[in-house]
Amino acid sequence: MSSDQSVRTSGAGNRCDGKRALVTGGASGIGAATARLLAGEGARVMLADVDEAGAARIADGIGKAASSTFLDVCRADSWSAAVASTVARLGGWDVLVNCAGILRRGTIETTTMATWHEVLDVNLRGTWLGAREAVRHMQGTGGVIVNLSSVAGIVGDQDLCAYDASKGGVRLLTKAITDHATRHGLGIRCNSIHPGVIETPMVANYIAESDDPVAERALWDSYMPPGVTGHADDVGHLIVFLVSDESRLIDGAELVIDGGGTVE
Ligand code: NAP
Repeated sequence: MSSDQSVRTSGAGNRCDGKRALVTGGASGIGAATARLLAGEGARVMLADVDEAGAARIADGIGKAASSTFLDVCRADSWSAAVASTVARLGGWDVLVNCAGILRRGTIETTTMATWHEVLDVNLRGTWLGAREAVRHMQGTGGVIVNLSSVAGIVGDQDLCAYDASKGGVRLLTKAITDHATRHGLGIRCNSIHPGVIETPMVANYIAESDDPVAERALWDSYMPPGVTGHADDVGHLIVFLVSDESRLIDGAELVIDGGGTVE
């Protein structure tokens, strides 16, 4: 696809020129930052979220390179509508960033059936449904899928039983997608990203809603090395690299981005 310089975010590069990206969870945190950075590198972006108004606000802030749409990642019919809207608005679709996610507290003993389903539905089923749409749509023309897992998909945390299970699932779902795409020569790369603590509304809300927010804050700080703070743009820059052709040989990989917090 030829690039359209007129929709480029000002002061930007061209590492993602011509890419057409659907970013789920685009109304907030890592998704919003990623959409901004992708547009800044020449991509056209569709921000998709259950928070339709929030996604529209972020898209307006980005400018002409961005559009927004409602998407509930748990529902197949919602995916069909969002993909149709993406293709119509962006002129095609070759990048999926699966950023939508939720975080809920619960150990193996306290996690309820409702919480288990809520978390697995959004984080794992939502990622699977999106990737299935992408693989069906992009084969032949090629594309890139980036799945947001977490360090919680690699190491366990007693309070995040359902979340850990969902993110561990995303990690291996990613490798299953790559195995399928490479065996069949589909030209689609798929990688998972594993952030440590990134200061977004997800983390802030989780801490604020705990019984002891001060102690909870200290616990979350301890997950990162002293003095290291993770920002949404840190993850967004990695996603830009994975979307760009600079990373063309990176496929089926799991990229930890946590300042070294889980190195031991
Ligand atoms: P965030 O700020 O809470 O953004 C997540 C967005 O996803 C929100 O706009 C949320 O809407 C939306 N969403 C929730 N359920 C959805 C659904 N069913 N369909 C579509 N959109 C939905 O979170 P974040 O920190 O940027 O997290 C982005 C991704 O990175 C998540 O997958 C998260 O698990 C992962 N991650 C984050 C961290 C971290 O420390 N922040 C670390 C590792 C991995 P509502 O606000 O209305 O729910």
